[in-house]
Amino acid sequence: MTFNGIQSRVVTGFLTGFNTLRRHLYLLGLLDSLLCRKCGVTDETLAHILCECEASDSLRHAYRTVPYLGWLLFLRAGGC
Ligand SMILES: [Zn+2]
Repeated sequence: MTFNGIQSRVVTGFLTGFNTLRRHLYLLGLLDSLLCRKCGVTDETLAHILCECEASDSLRHAYRTVPYLGWLLFLRAGGC
């Protein structure tokens, strides 16, 4: 399996935590709030976006059927 530049960036961000989710941007001091951009209910972490965010349900479901890279496409579409 090979990744293009964007896919590599998303995978690296997924594995290392260095991504554009609010948790990381908050830790860098770039934002004042950790709250999820989609639902505004709780902290925007990778686990929240991948598993919990109800506002991302339809997008997550749409990419769930894409074999192998569905989660990657979902993260990219979600702005991670
Ligand atoms: Zn959310």
